[in-house]
Amino acid sequence: MNQTTLPAIFISHGAPTIALEDTPASTFLRELGTTLPRPKAILTISAHWTTNRPKVSLAAQPETIHDFGGFPQALYEMAYPAPGAPELANRVAALLQRANIACDSSLDRGYDHGVWIPLRLMYPAADIPVAQLSVQPNASAEAHYRVGQVLQELRADGVLIVASGTAVHNLYTIGQYAEPPAWAVQFEQWLYDETLSGAAHDLLRYEDLSVARMAHPTPEHWLPFYVALGAASNHDGQFRGTCLHRSWAFGSLSMAAYGFENV
Ligand code: ZN
Repeated sequence: MNQTTLPAIFISHGAPTIALEDTPASTFLRELGTTLPRPKAILTISAHWTTNRPKVSLAAQPETIHDFGGFPQALYEMAYPAPGAPELANRVAALLQRANIACDSSLDRGYDHGVWIPLRLMYPAADIPVAQLSVQPNASAEAHYRVGQVLQELRADGVLIVASGTAVHNLYTIGQYAEPPAWAVQFEQWLYDETLSGAAHDLLRYEDLSVARMAHPTPEHWLPFYVALGAASNHDGQFRGTCLHRSWAFGSLSMAAYGFENV
């Protein structure tokens, strides 16, 4: 039986409280899990697992990490008991190494909130195995894109690549605005326009945007985007991009989500 080739997706996880609230973004994530073809396994690239070199988690039964402070007690009582996917993690490491990209492994890395909070909304039954790959804040957009390119073949084998960051993420400005400020709107609109135009090379030059550092004072919530982008782009950087969701939270956080498929 042929396995459906899955898209690679970039989602915005925003603040942990999305797990408790009914917002446009939480509604979207709940629906997304029912509209995508069911994956055999999931590979996450979360903004909250940062390392100097790519690293995979080989944990067979990852713990739920409550890597946040000062939130309602209900969040600390939540768990996401999905099994790990060590076989998939090993395959990811092997694919990267074959492409001369060094890759380390962890035996016990659990699910940080960039993984478990959106997956708990998408797949509440927690019955799909999850492998994890880390983000390198010191590496370029191009480097993350190359990682995605190497992982492209996983999509044809029923693996859903879930890059989990936040499309506009400046925590210094949280709650300062009643409406999304101009710099945030500009980055979010650029992302929308460029993703729908389907040219990866333009997206890779995000640092040319005057508002890039305002939208992302640190890059870890943005770089996962490039793994998803690379996972569906051909050698000329062409892909088919779909906007899955757009909304705002706390004034300046863009909760946008995109899907990527081959042209
Ligand atoms: Zn985050």
